[in-house]
Amino acid sequence: MSNFKKYWDEELETMSREEVKAYQLKLLKETLEFSYNRSPYYKQAFDKAGVAPGDLKSLEDLKKFPTINKQILRERQQAIPDFGDIACVPEEEMVYMSASSGSTGVPTASPFTAQDFEDFQDFEARLFWSSGMRPTDRYCHALNFTLFVGGPDVIGAQKVGALSIWAGAIPSERLLQILEQWKATVTWTTPSYAWYLGETAKEHGIDPAKDLAVKKIFVAGEPGGSIPETREAIEQLWGAEVYDYYGLSDIFGACAGMCEEREGLHWAEDHILVEVIDPDTGEEVAEGERGELVLTSLKKKARPLIRFRTADIVSYTTEKCRCGRTSMRLHGIHGRLDDMLIIKGVNVFPSDIEAIIRNNKDMTGEYRLRVSEKKHMTHLVVEAEHGRHIAANQLAELGGSIQKECMKIVGIKPEIKLVNPGELPRATHKAKRVIDERQLG
Ligand SMILES: [Zn+2]
Repeated sequence: MSNFKKYWDEELETMSREEVKAYQLKLLKETLEFSYNRSPYYKQAFDKAGVAPGDLKSLEDLKKFPTINKQILRERQQAIPDFGDIACVPEEEMVYMSASSGSTGVPTASPFTAQDFEDFQDFEARLFWSSGMRPTDRYCHALNFTLFVGGPDVIGAQKVGALSIWAGAIPSERLLQILEQWKATVTWTTPSYAWYLGETAKEHGIDPAKDLAVKKIFVAGEPGGSIPETREAIEQLWGAEVYDYYGLSDIFGACAGMCEEREGLHWAEDHILVEVIDPDTGEEVAEGERGELVLTSLKKKARPLIRFRTADIVSYTTEKCRCGRTSMRLHGIHGRLDDMLIIKGVNVFPSDIEAIIRNNKDMTGEYRLRVSEKKHMTHLVVEAEHGRHIAANQLAELGGSIQKECMKIVGIKPEIKLVNPGELPRATHKAKRVIDERQLG
């Protein structure tokens, strides 16, 4: 075994839940006070809700404070360019910004002070260390650098001491060349792209499991990294371990990541306070239940976010991990609130269907969902590729068995349409899995 230490910051990572909460309460009080005094938006929002920073006596009191969301960020930025009245420092104190367009197009800026940026890369290093990255690794950063908050994470890898290769978003042939020539041991991409890249390698006569040195693949941006079936498929293709990460452009490139036990994603709770709520009632949901992830930054100064509704559906545990770390762990992202389909009264996430498709040895794993309206009912068609070894006369039986699985696991009976292997489009970035035909008419 190596002589490297086990934890990046043992005291911080193994403190008791009581200590975590006490520390968070102290930071939260400071954040509320700071935001109220510096940001016209927060002052007005708190006043309107009839709350003041002094009303926070315990972490539970946070629910009295108003939530914020992407739309408000966008509105405030448009009302007061370029950073909105949620920003708490003058521009001369900002040193970095990322921007993200989200699904509706207008990019919102996420500014950082020098200290915010330093904190960001320090805990990235801690997350990377927990995933087993060490100074002996070669890290190939294959994420986009252009305005993307994931770009700077390469600096976190350098803090770990790994030899960092700044590849960025480049054509897959070029990326494969870099991985091969410089024998990178760790890389980072989306789950769909990891799959695509592995398949592309094979087309070029490279077996990723034998010919490349990649032993760890970090993934983020899609639910796949926490769907065991998807993870296993990528792991077999690459002969490497897959680590799921969660990031949010409006806060940090990565806010949580898997340790080497890979049983959920550890949160950097000294930087971000997590709430999981029922999206309809706003009430907190119990540990293990699915709800909407709501985040509060605890140290950021350029633009603190208080109770930011992410629209990501998650569940969590606060049980101590086998790695010895005590931070809250997400079980993974089940989907986006806006991806959630309601089929005959049942909440369905594309990730639920994905698990069924990936788990079936007679399928390639590629799939797409088509949603339409039939006789005023939402109609779901699962289009999925059957494996090469399946003959035409076996299709009906295979489709039937997938439909049965959907009924058993998700509680709905979608129409199954099997297509030939290779027929569905391959994603090079975030896969578009849902085609909603209801909005087209
Ligand atoms: Zn752990």
